[in-house]
Amino acid sequence: MSPFADSYLTKLAERAIDQLGLGKGGGTDFLAVSYSSPDHVGHAFGPRSWEIQDILVRLDKDLAELFEHLDLKVGRGNYLVALSADHGVVPVPEDMQKTGSDAGRRRHRHRARRTTRRQRWGPRRHG
Ligand SMILES: [Zn+2]
Repeated sequence: MSPFADSYLTKLAERAIDQLGLGKGGGTDFLAVSYSSPDHVGHAFGPRSWEIQDILVRLDKDLAELFEHLDLKVGRGNYLVALSADHGVVPVPEDMQKTGSDAGRRRHRHRARRTTRRQRWGPRRHG
């Protein structure tokens, strides 16, 4: 896990805009960029950590850089940005314990064996 992963991804997105000529043709171009560092850091350190604050400050800077690049190469007002997230994040158990919550981690000895389709439904019948 590197605090620079999102910055490298921003550079890659900018390179894709330039090399593919996005926004230069007659049709609509689509570029999807998934910044995953906040997810990894959020799971590992929690939403109240210095680590997530650091990642979010860096992501804010990276997004500003990407938008400036789009302004320069595609033109302000000529592109649309939609931001989304896959989920939020809850405090990690260790952080919850500090605030008095009855929280902890469970260790799984082994995973329950998954039932195969054939075990559950029997052999395939054709026709
Ligand atoms: Zn996640």
